[in-house]
Amino acid sequence: MTLRGRLTAAFLAVALGPVLLGALFVGSTMAAVDRTRSTERLGLAAASVRTSVDALCQQLRAAADSVALVADPAGRVGAAGQVVSRGLAAAVLVTDVAGGVLYTTPGAPVGPWRDCSAADPAGGPVHALTARVGLRDRAGADLGAVAAAQPVDPGFVARLAAVTGVAVTLLDDAAGGVAHTTEAPGVRDAVLAAARKATGDRVAGTLDGRYVRRVGPSPGQPLPLVLSVPSEQPPGRYAALVGAVVLAGLLAVAVAWRLARVTTRPLVELAGAVDRVAHGDLGARVPVRSRDEIGRLAAAFNRMTRETGSYVQALTSSRDQLRGHLAVLGDTLASTHDLQRILRVILHSAIAATGARAGAVLLVDGGVLVGRCAEGLDGRWPADGAPPDAADPACAGTDAAALRVPVGRGVVGAVAATGEPCRGRADPAAEPTGEPRCETYVAVPFATPGGLADRAGAEPGRPGGPEPAVALGVLVLYDRLGGDEFDDDDLATLRTFARHAAVAVDNVRVHEEAQRLSLTDPLTGLWNYRYLRESIRREVERASRFGRMLSVLALDLDRFKTVNDTWGHAAGDAVLAEFARRLRNEIREVDLAFRQGGEEFVVLLPETDARGATIVAERLGAAVRDAPVALDGPGGVTIGMTVSVGIAVYPDHATTGQQVLDAADDALYAAKAAGRDTWRLAEARPWPPVEEIAVPAAAVSPPDGLPRAGAAIDGRDSPLRVTAVLGPVDVEAGWPDAPVARSGPGGASSGPHPSRHAPGR
Ligand code: GH3
Ligand code: MG
Ligand code: MG
Repeated sequence: MTLRGRLTAAFLAVALGPVLLGALFVGSTMAAVDRTRSTERLGLAAASVRTSVDALCQQLRAAADSVALVADPAGRVGAAGQVVSRGLAAAVLVTDVAGGVLYTTPGAPVGPWRDCSAADPAGGPVHALTARVGLRDRAGADLGAVAAAQPVDPGFVARLAAVTGVAVTLLDDAAGGVAHTTEAPGVRDAVLAAARKATGDRVAGTLDGRYVRRVGPSPGQPLPLVLSVPSEQPPGRYAALVGAVVLAGLLAVAVAWRLARVTTRPLVELAGAVDRVAHGDLGARVPVRSRDEIGRLAAAFNRMTRETGSYVQALTSSRDQLRGHLAVLGDTLASTHDLQRILRVILHSAIAATGARAGAVLLVDGGVLVGRCAEGLDGRWPADGAPPDAADPACAGTDAAALRVPVGRGVVGAVAATGEPCRGRADPAAEPTGEPRCETYVAVPFATPGGLADRAGAEPGRPGGPEPAVALGVLVLYDRLGGDEFDDDDLATLRTFARHAAVAVDNVRVHEEAQRLSLTDPLTGLWNYRYLRESIRREVERASRFGRMLSVLALDLDRFKTVNDTWGHAAGDAVLAEFARRLRNEIREVDLAFRQGGEEFVVLLPETDARGATIVAERLGAAVRDAPVALDGPGGVTIGMTVSVGIAVYPDHATTGQQVLDAADDALYAAKAAGRDTWRLAEARPWPPVEEIAVPAAAVSPPDGLPRAGAAIDGRDSPLRVTAVLGPVDVEAGWPDAPVARSGPGGASSGPHPSRHAPGR
């Protein structure tokens, strides 16, 4: 049964119960009052019947007396006629002692006659009522009797009814039915049936609402009469009562239904909405129709689903975001070896996944953790809010590079030193360590894949145990959104990202190493010919873009075949390696040195003009010439060596990389031809093939004093212009007589540098 059905039933019980009870009470009270009054009426009628019958009997007795008083039988006849004619009796009967009829007035009613004074009236039909008086002579001898009679016919019954005011029925006891009655024919049977139940003075009721009572036969009233009255209630009163009750019932049903509906409607709506939510529709809402408990329930439900909806939305969008981050991370890891970019994406994803406000990736570099990328560190530096080393050019002015923490110091330093991750709340009273300010932090180390894991079981510092490994770097996040501490889940997440970072760093390093190996010459450690081709193109392009010069030296060891032939190939190799070492020592960091093949080498000198190049060539020639190569071994040989150099300058001698190389080769050939152990500058190309001018001439010398491509040319095609730039150097004279200052106007050389001229130093 539904709630609505139960509520309807309850409301019905509450509303209909009193109505029914009231109706019952009213009905029974009405019935009782009716019965009482009818009983009273019947009692009065019964008394009146007895009185009437008694009066009739006395009248009959008086009539019989008056006849009996006449002694003369003939006179008696006359007296009887008078009695009848005066209406004192309907008939007079004179009998003798034996009961034989002596005389009867004409028109006497048929028998049987019921005697008024019958002590125990027998049953049977009654046609007349009679009073009997004995006839005696003077001596008192019985002569017979005189009986005066009155017929008991419908007229008699009707008169009785008129006297008593109730319906009167005369029973025919012998036939068990009705002799005469004033009741309507339709109700006679009902009255008869009730009369049988009404013994003594009791009043019985009929189904149609009549009350019935018997009167007689009894001494003094020998007639078997039944008195009956209809109910005093007007017809239809009970029907009206029942109708009212039915109406009230219907009304109650309607009201109860409506009430139940009104009461349960919000609950039905709520149940429907709960159902929809259960099926995943978080947009379900219920109307709030009132401020009662159900209204509050509906409002709370709406609030709950709204908040759940927004939680779900937030979760979905953060999941989507995370998916996006992971996709970017995956793509980045798969598609690039740009370590900076990879670390940035890893950091960004880690921040997004844990809800941190800031973070950084630091890599160990010579015992110091150096920030490689950072996010959200602005305003987290102590005191003035600027990175502590912002002024340090090594930091390149970025937040990330400003983050420098010695291994073993502070949070990240400890994490890097111990290889153990760490999370917690920052101690505001702690000494500054160079780390940014924060409230909460989580930091995990990362090492070469397998590195930290391998020693995870080992106790650091235990004698005989493995050396404590230092991590590759540390991934650290600061200040979780909401102010809570980072938890173990965050730590686990961060470990995953740290593993990515480790793999990325490792991959990039492996990749860099592979790249380096593919571009370097194994014997000398210089860049190889492959890298030369790439570099010359790039350097020419750069010089062209920035309006700078680029000098190219082509070097070839003199008579090297003899070295091989005399001392063997291994000695030749050692000489080549030593030459490469000296070559590296003589050039700047920005210069690039290549082994082109065999005993031929190339050096690129960016931002260097012909004068600077000659100075380098000069210095190189001296460095090779001045110190013979001493070979280790039992013989302890020393091998003297010289080198010839060809010099070409972009854009003076060529407009493309290959052309510059060719020009330098030509100049080398010229140096060889000139007797070796010398240098030659390439010949100036015909000037100016307009379409070949790749670099616009600068109008004035730049403030840095470095030469610019075309700066000194000024539209004229004279090699003397170059000579003029070179100053005192005699371009045609081979090695100049006078020693050349090591720092000439070209500014090209300032002694040995740690350099990019050769990889892997
Ligand atoms: P020059 O250049 O002065 O004209 O004479 P050269 O003897 O140097 O000339 P050439 O180019 O004919 O000889 C170069 C020699 O260098 C030939 C080869 O035996 C030797 N050579 C080339 N590559 C290597 C190398 O990798 N190791 C050694 N030991 N020798 C090499
Ligand atoms: Mg050669
Ligand atoms: Mg040679």
